[in-house]
Amino acid sequence: MNTIQIKDKHFAISIKAEEIEKEVIRVANEINKDLAGENPLFLSVLNGSFMFTADLMKHITIPCEISFIKLASYQGVTSTGTIKEVIGINEDLVGRTVVIVEDIVDTGLTMQRLLETLGTRGIKDVYIASLLVKPEKLKVDLDIKYVAMRIPNDFIVGYGLDYDGYGRNYPDIYTVVD
Ligand code: 5GP
Repeated sequence: MNTIQIKDKHFAISIKAEEIEKEVIRVANEINKDLAGENPLFLSVLNGSFMFTADLMKHITIPCEISFIKLASYQGVTSTGTIKEVIGINEDLVGRTVVIVEDIVDTGLTMQRLLETLGTRGIKDVYIASLLVKPEKLKVDLDIKYVAMRIPNDFIVGYGLDYDGYGRNYPDIYTVVD
């Protein structure tokens, strides 16, 4: 399927599943090398990162834990940068090495707020692993250590990312065309 329609919008395929897989494996290997002996806790940010998290974790070979958090910052096709809720940090994070697993960093405001929230919890080190980054849109200074792919400033769906709740199920990534 090279084009899809979700509600009022048309999308064209922009990153194929095979290419995504290659970059996800590369990121997993970097983490395996860098964080060996650190017993990291992966904090996956739902909903958008569920597919990235699942694929990434299949290739993490070092001892680790995985947990899931949820926050809402996005409605329609523009980012508000406002975290409405953060649910699910039940672990004791004191002294832990944490890897935040995110679907996409756009302006970076969501990630900045999340880092502020985590900042009070006595974490040893926190790293960001993002499937996608839109470098042109970044508004804040973020050290995103692990990036699978950098993309232009267009709205995308698929591989966990949605348009108005739909499109998360596609294995490829699609870019809006109208
Ligand atoms: P930020 O706060 O960095 O501007 O926005 C981050 C959040 O906005 C992401 O976690 C994601 O939910 C949403 N987002 C940003 N760009 C896109 C996009 O192109 N497509 C989709 N589906 N969501 C996006």
